[in-house]
Amino acid sequence: MAGLYLHIPFCKQACYYCDFHFSVNTDIKAELVKAIIREMELQVHYLGGEPLETIYFGGGTPSLLTEAELNSILNTIYKLHPVAPTPEITLEANPDDLTAEKLTALARVGVNRLSIGVQSFDNSVLQFLNRAHTADEATKCIDAAHQVGISNLSIDIMFGLPNQHEAILYKDLASAIALHPTHVSVYSLTVEEKTVFGKWAQQGKLNIAAEPEAARQFEVVMDTLESNGFTQYEISNYAKPGFESQHNGSYWQRKKYLGIGPSAHSYNGDTRQFNISNNHRYVQALSGGKIPFELEQLTRANKINEYIFTTLRTNRGCNLAVLKQDYDYDLETVAGKALARMVANNLITQKAGTLLLTRAGKLVADQLALEFFASEK
Ligand code: SF4
Repeated sequence: MAGLYLHIPFCKQACYYCDFHFSVNTDIKAELVKAIIREMELQVHYLGGEPLETIYFGGGTPSLLTEAELNSILNTIYKLHPVAPTPEITLEANPDDLTAEKLTALARVGVNRLSIGVQSFDNSVLQFLNRAHTADEATKCIDAAHQVGISNLSIDIMFGLPNQHEAILYKDLASAIALHPTHVSVYSLTVEEKTVFGKWAQQGKLNIAAEPEAARQFEVVMDTLESNGFTQYEISNYAKPGFESQHNGSYWQRKKYLGIGPSAHSYNGDTRQFNISNNHRYVQALSGGKIPFELEQLTRANKINEYIFTTLRTNRGCNLAVLKQDYDYDLETVAGKALARMVANNLITQKAGTLLLTRAGKLVADQLALEFFASEK
């Protein structure tokens, strides 16, 4: 089983924190959809005939696609690939696009899961982030999604924002829970250099939450969602039983996936492909029958480190036997001292040959993973 990711690189306006690949100029949207279809045709053999169990429209803002555009993409997918009987078809959407008509159209084309970029239910926070929607639009679109029968809903919420008081975070989480999502993704703000926030930070104009404050907010997130029936199955992702994102899961289960569109990545177990992050050059190359990408051959160390980095963030943990069997990597020999220290400091537990992060470990997950990494030799 494999996954397909489609990157739709357009947005109505630029959120001040975002460094994903997108353009606010939608003039070439129709040409880009044609290029996406062309790329899918050229990449038809990439997954080796494995059936698709997940299809994921990410971005950018895929909810800017029309019903006809979505239909032409989905029809191409079904024409080119075997598809599992009940695939998870997710579309990332912004609340201002999700009118009742749009939601009905999405249900009609087969979208059965929405990942809605709410970020906050506080209008002053939304304005500060330069989001294009209001809190009221977010609430209404989620109710409307339930009404058209799309009930597998994920809500994105942010924390660790400048001037975000804990009271706002409590309100955001309570508002999200009250709308009965099956899944909540909660991200802390990362200030990226080439964003408006990045510039403000360089100029000393951004009051970034201090580490202890962000850590306290992360604890609030975990406590609140867990006490409301959500399982933290990955550091930033919480789901009701049976509603973990299958598409995200395929990344840490090392399943193959094909990424289509500007800036999309593909993975086949041995290589990673990175498409160009430029809409015009992407369209131009595809019109000449070429996919503009760079190829990275994964080394043994790359594979080991990706396995450690991704699995340690999940509640399935990092399985030491898999590292030994698949990569001949004995983590306990290579990094035994670091592991013993982390266990003694209650950052990691070791159960049946699997490493799992504790609450305290989740606050510093990436630093811990780095200490287990293999080096290139
Ligand atoms: S809508 Fe999403 S992809 Fe577009 S700028 Fe905002 S956060 Fe980035």
